[in-house]
Amino acid sequence: MIENYITYLNFLSKKFDKFFESQKPYIFCKKGCGKCCQNAQFPYSQIEFEYLMRGTLYLDIKTKEAIVNNIKTTLDAKKNFEGKKFLYDCPFLIDNVCAVYDYRGIVCRSFGLPTVGENGKIKAPFCCFQGLNYSNVLEDGGNTISVEKFKKLGVKEEPVAFNISYEFLTDPDFERGFNFSFGEKKPLIDWFEELEKV
Ligand code: SF4
Ligand code: SF4
Repeated sequence: MIENYITYLNFLSKKFDKFFESQKPYIFCKKGCGKCCQNAQFPYSQIEFEYLMRGTLYLDIKTKEAIVNNIKTTLDAKKNFEGKKFLYDCPFLIDNVCAVYDYRGIVCRSFGLPTVGENGKIKAPFCCFQGLNYSNVLEDGGNTISVEKFKKLGVKEEPVAFNISYEFLTDPDFERGFNFSFGEKKPLIDWFEELEKV
């Protein structure tokens, strides 16, 4: 079944490559940024988690140890957390680079693209506020796109929003179409919490 999931991932990656290519003037992603891998929940389905773990098989001992330490620290922080939504840095982010990049999950592949906001306007990704993606066309005081700044930029590629919600990308239609099952979905760290109990 995981082979069918990989086929779906390849299909998705081709789509994302096209999205990113079409939005080139607004994208400032580069290796070593990694801000999108911090302070979040990272939803992962069972099959995504299994595939991610496959990626760890090829890592050197030092990197594996660093990941295990990160997982332990994050699980400890979660145990002492009393709020509603536990946010954390992804344990696989080592020296600001994803240690399992080729095996990363679906949400990780969509970081940095704009979405449609509740008001129907294009919603820039969170890193727009850090001078990164879409910061060059950002409406003053908001997270939408400034038509004025877009015109001033003088590029032909218009900013476009994509349907990249995790709910949509893990819709049962894709399971049926590609013949696999996502399985249960939960924050990445919760998968490790479950393993700890075994
Ligand atoms: S798996 Fe990799 S890309 Fe995804 S959040 Fe973790 S470090 Fe970032
Ligand atoms: S999506 Fe934003 S935070 Fe993530 S690598 Fe790209 S520029 Fe950096």
